Amino acid sequence: MSGIAARIEAEFLRWEQFDKSARLACHSSDGVIELMPIADAAQFSFKYVNGHPKNHRFGLPTVMAFGVLADVPTGAPVLLSELTLATAMRTAAMSALAAKKLARPDSRVMALIGNGAQSEFQALAFRDLVGIDTLHLFDVDPRATAKLVSNLSTSGMNLKVFSSTADAVRGVDIVTTVTADKTNATILTPDMIEPGMHINGVGGDCPGKTELHRGVLEAGRVFVEFEPQTRIEGDLQQMPADFAVTEFWRVLAGQAEGRQSPDQVTVFDSVGFALEDFAALSFLNETAEQLGMGEFVELVPDNPDPKDLFGLLRLDSMAVAA
Ligand code: NAD
Repeated sequence: MSGIAARIEAEFLRWEQFDKSARLACHSSDGVIELMPIADAAQFSFKYVNGHPKNHRFGLPTVMAFGVLADVPTGAPVLLSELTLATAMRTAAMSALAAKKLARPDSRVMALIGNGAQSEFQALAFRDLVGIDTLHLFDVDPRATAKLVSNLSTSGMNLKVFSSTADAVRGVDIVTTVTADKTNATILTPDMIEPGMHINGVGGDCPGKTELHRGVLEAGRVFVEFEPQTRIEGDLQQMPADFAVTEFWRVLAGQAEGRQSPDQVTVFDSVGFALEDFAALSFLNETAEQLGMGEFVELVPDNPDPKDLFGLLRLDSMAVAA
């Protein structure tokens, strides 16, 4: 995750070199299926990803993903990769990178609300990149919290379980909300926000699916990935079109201020942007090459005469006849 975070930072600093668009989403009453394309002059990537909060009833994860990295000059696919695990890693890396720049530098205690599939990744990224050593945990499903406590038992982190969000967030430096419910939820309300808190809102990421009461957004400075997408999908969807936000890449590039005082509340309204997947895919590709991992998949037919596509069928039928 540290490697992916470094790659995300490097790619965000090249922000203006990318051909960017908000993702294409197909919504249903149970969830959403999305395609997330992005390209620079050399490489293109896309991710297929869904979000179906009731999926655990069918033995499936809420979020499943795969993606492709391709060569722009030829259009040839280079890498086909699973991205369910990688999405959890890149989301946590992005959250931690944002918190590293926006939270108070002395932040050590984080509330983690929602203890499902993404949660351990968030915990470990914040431990390694931000210096969080204590977690306050809450989930409406106690089994999810028990799973997280078990998975992080050797993490060296101090884990404290609470019976409500209000109790879990009291006195913490950072609050991460990573819940899944296709509704306009109010996991965090303004009365829970304390001076100097950093809010990492991860679960409000599609129309009609939010986690933060609008008063939480009004309580501080709001940072987003790609503004046109976050206005549609983020907790920001509740706010008027002229509500001021800052794209996070500008903070990285020194073009905009991040936190302006220790008492200021900062909010990272995360929805997940294609450039994070581009960074993860190119990092995976290079790492796999270094480690000699992966296998060749014949996605495109190996054709001795590229103009004679039909001839491939003749070669195949001759092979069958033989
Ligand atoms: P998950 O279904 O595995 O876990 C979600 C957890 O939230 C569950 O354990 C559930 O019991 C809990 N929960 C639901 N309502 C709650 C409430 N009111 N209070 C406390 N806990 C509550 O899902 P996941 O894979 O961990 O994903 C979590 C969320 O993050 C989803 O909404 C997903 O769409 C989103 N997500 C965002 C990004 C991004 O880049 N921003 C990336 C991946 C996933």
